[in-house]
Amino acid sequence: MTPCLRPLDPIDVEAVASGTEPPVAPDAAGHAAACASCGAAVEMARGLAQALERLSREVPAVPDLTPRIIRLRTFSVRERRTYALWRAPILLSAATAAGGLALLLAPNLTAGDQAGLGTAALVPIVAFVRSLARWAPALVRSAPSGLEALSDVLHQERLVGLVSLLLLVPAGLGLRRAFARARGRR
Ligand SMILES: [Zn+2]
Repeated sequence: MTPCLRPLDPIDVEAVASGTEPPVAPDAAGHAAACASCGAAVEMARGLAQALERLSREVPAVPDLTPRIIRLRTFSVRERRTYALWRAPILLSAATAAGGLALLLAPNLTAGDQAGLGTAALVPIVAFVRSLARWAPALVRSAPSGLEALSDVLHQERLVGLVSLLLLVPAGLGLRRAFARARGRR
């Protein structure tokens, strides 16, 4: 197969395969019909779409999925601290991120594909960091029970526990300096 001098944009390949208007190059369909390598790319995209459609038809819908996803009340403080509740989303995010990174490292992807996948791999990581950022102030707000929470966290989430312990070091040093200054003034 002769290499194409003007390879179609992946978005146009998807558009031609699904029979919609190509957003980048208006003549994408004509080019795919004349160019062997772009035609093959379109065929591959069409095959993938059909395989996914077949899969969604074969796998039965999960019963009661919506009520299980949409919560009517917010999590209680105790629930927010329970790792068992968060294990599934955390593991799913980690698996998605790992899968995205594995795809990024796959050798037979073009630079354009990798740029798109790179952004896709960032999504679960950003979501995870954002959920952590939302969770931290909630922990601080529950200050009176903060120490109890910290000991729970230490038991349940080793990484968060270690970070908390490391944060205690500068806090401890600051307290010692404050105490020394107070004693010196007396
Ligand atoms: Zn071409």
